[in-house]
Amino acid sequence: MAQDPKRKYGKKRCKYCEMKVDYIGYKDLELIKYSLSERYKIMPRRLTGTCKKHQDMVTKAIKRARQVALIPYVVDRKRVIENPFDAIKPLKG
Ligand SMILES: [Zn+2]
Repeated sequence: MAQDPKRKYGKKRCKYCEMKVDYIGYKDLELIKYSLSERYKIMPRRLTGTCKKHQDMVTKAIKRARQVALIPYVVDRKRVIENPFDAIKPLKG
């Protein structure tokens, strides 16, 4: 049986509608995380199946959560490896 590529990400149903969520605030990290990728990027609607109403809501919540530092902007691998003491090390020579 041929696989429908549209079914790759499971049912195209809005998780928030299924959970009967009326409002998503920036403190609702449990709800927000469904729309965040591993790198804390906002997942596009075509992947998550979130309806427009809830996508708008969660997008605003994510942006707000970033402003108040509840979630990081970008998770950069380089920053993890980088030694913070290198920046303050006095230059020689
Ligand atoms: Zn919805």
